[in-house]
Amino acid sequence: MEKKKFDVVVIGAGPGGYVAAIKAAQNGKSVALIEKSFLGGTCLNVGCIPTKTLLANAEVMHKINMAEEYGIITGPVSFDFLKMKTRKDQVVEKMRQGLDGLLKSNKITVLSGKAEFMSPTEIKVIGDDNLIVEAENTIIATGSEPLDIPAFPCDHTRILNSTSILELTQLPKSLAIIGGGYIGCEFASLYAEFGVKVTILEALPSILSLQGKAVGDFLSAAFEKQGIDIKTNVFVEGIDHTENGVSVKLKGTDPFKAELALVAVGRRVNSGSLGLEKAGVKVGPKGAIVVNDKMQTNVPGIYAIGDVTGEFLLAHVASHQGIIAASNILGQNVHMHYNAVPAVIFTNPEIATVGMTLEQAKEAGFNASIGKFPFQALGKSVATIDTEGFAEVIIDKGTRQILGAQVIGHDASTLIAEMALAIHNELTADCVADTIHAHPTVAEAWMEAALLANDMPIHLPPKRKK
Ligand code: FAD
Ligand code: NAD
Repeated sequence: MEKKKFDVVVIGAGPGGYVAAIKAAQNGKSVALIEKSFLGGTCLNVGCIPTKTLLANAEVMHKINMAEEYGIITGPVSFDFLKMKTRKDQVVEKMRQGLDGLLKSNKITVLSGKAEFMSPTEIKVIGDDNLIVEAENTIIATGSEPLDIPAFPCDHTRILNSTSILELTQLPKSLAIIGGGYIGCEFASLYAEFGVKVTILEALPSILSLQGKAVGDFLSAAFEKQGIDIKTNVFVEGIDHTENGVSVKLKGTDPFKAELALVAVGRRVNSGSLGLEKAGVKVGPKGAIVVNDKMQTNVPGIYAIGDVTGEFLLAHVASHQGIIAASNILGQNVHMHYNAVPAVIFTNPEIATVGMTLEQAKEAGFNASIGKFPFQALGKSVATIDTEGFAEVIIDKGTRQILGAQVIGHDASTLIAEMALAIHNELTADCVADTIHAHPTVAEAWMEAALLANDMPIHLPPKRKK
């Protein structure tokens, strides 16, 4: 078999791998990027981009349904779901081509095939390309896949996962979503907007339990108003086919019937068939590759980034870890920090968080206080009829440093960037309150929340003295 040598080999071309490859190549390294499927990984092909493309359609539909409130009279409104799916495919294809060009412009050698370690410095590629690559430094960025549960495996016809549901060309009448996490909630929002009867079946006492009770409660109330049913504390044990759909077996209670089921119960990391034992790379529970804060594994010269490390499972975290790994290969000494990782759930209303919640800040020993500003009190939100939601900041009362922020409502995904910048740079509530925010904008909510955290609101009545 042919052998080729590179300075850096990256396995997996998702947002972790391709970003690491570009960073290394831009700094003069010869780089090979090995991908067994499509460039862009989960995020571009079956994750962030296709789901947000479809959700953009739902947002338009939502506004059209509100048209009368704005004084706009529409005729009967209909939609073409097949056209929406086609647009989604076109967006993905266009971005894949863009990425291909970007990699070429950085003189990265893209190898098409499945990578497997033969030793700590040799990797066999099998696929369209068949060769052995040698490298002093390797970055593993093989990502994750939908978790399939043996008791109710996906058949991709009636029991779908987050990948196969993206291939539907027509909508079902009803959808049972197993799991009320990120994926379950985003698909619930999407399908409900187009009139599908959606029911979320969640094993824990709340949906989005990782985001804290307040967020889960707020979204549950908003979802119920939109006609989405939420059944919590129900553990799915199996799914049977019926004549017209599926019957979801629930522990200790009656089965639940729907036309289709979406299984969204988490992801499993892609480390199993990489030959890691031949390289001596250590994995932890559930196969996640063990790394330190420089993204180094236990084997010198081998790094791991992104979902395969089991941390956060977010595209922007994978990309940032890629920059850290590549920078360390380039001889810098940089470390990954997780105190200012923004997370966004693209539901209606959107949810975005960064840093600590009030409870987490108190548990960590801070003398923490909160400033919470409702969108009902914001001129821009009232003007655009986007009054559902709030922005809140958590600060340390002593230093006034911002420790965390949460925002629920229209454009939360964009708003959270200001707080990520503030927390990453250890800014105080005063820094935000003293910054001139354009009027009328939703971003003014941060200024007001920062003032509230100091008990000095301008656009809300002052707190009553006890
Ligand atoms: P991946 O993107 O999974 O890429 C890994 C790549 O490695 C894949 O292309 C795979 O084919 C390749 N590979 C695996 N094994 C091998 C091998 N042996 N040889 C060669 N190649 C291999 N995150 C967000 O931040 N925002 C979102 O809005 C968002 N939405 C999502 C929606 C859905 C439905 C899903 C499923 C996920 C979403 N995510 C989102 C999560 C995000 O997609 C992942 O966190 C991100 O893609 C992880 O990047 P990665 O580079 O680690 O791995
Ligand atoms: P998740 O871990 O967010 O949620 C899975 C849910 O399924 C949990 O609430 C769990 O209690 C529930 N569950 C598990 N087994 C069950 C059973 N038998 N019966 C009923 N409920 C059960 O996982 P996910 O939603 O599949 O998402 C996976 C990851 O993908 C997320 O952790 C996230 O990092 C990433 N993602 C991110 C975004 C984004 O950033 N906007 C969007 C989608 C996915």
